[in-house]
Amino acid sequence: MTTARTRLLEAELVDLAPFIDWDFDALALRFMAKIDADGDCWLWTGAVNHLGYGRFAYGGTDIRAHRAAWCLLVGPCPEDLVPDHRCYQTGCANPDHLEWITEEENIRRSNSASARNQRATRCPQKHPYDEANTVWRVQKGRKRRECRVCVNEQSRERKRRARLRLVVPA
Ligand SMILES: [Zn+2]
Ligand SMILES: [Zn+2]
Repeated sequence: MTTARTRLLEAELVDLAPFIDWDFDALALRFMAKIDADGDCWLWTGAVNHLGYGRFAYGGTDIRAHRAAWCLLVGPCPEDLVPDHRCYQTGCANPDHLEWITEEENIRRSNSASARNQRATRCPQKHPYDEANTVWRVQKGRKRRECRVCVNEQSRERKRRARLRLVVPA
């Protein structure tokens, strides 16, 4: 099977895997079988590397899952640019969450205060930002995370004050 799209993909992956007899649709299916797309992010359920990036095995090597997603579902990865996860989830392979930026921009972003904040593993009250305790909100087009314990605590506090206002005579 050789279509324009498979040739594009082949060009993208050619130096990673000298692999001729492959099937684009089978690859895409095998890829999607490893995706948990219940949420907005496509969480990679297969192997990950030491940085938390998904690894998609391909022709005897493996490539990062988010790059594979782009190649399989969108087109060739832009040359000279690096993909930035706008959702800050390194394990996410949703091509919609990738932004292609220059290496300099990537360094600038990874040094910024918000990036440092996003890398923190605990909220200011020291609750862990693990899967169960992290709430994602979209603000100004960017995903921002909140601590579930703190969010619940704040909403309890708001309700408590509202009740007090009801019972305290004016
Ligand atoms: Zn994502
Ligand atoms: Zn917290």
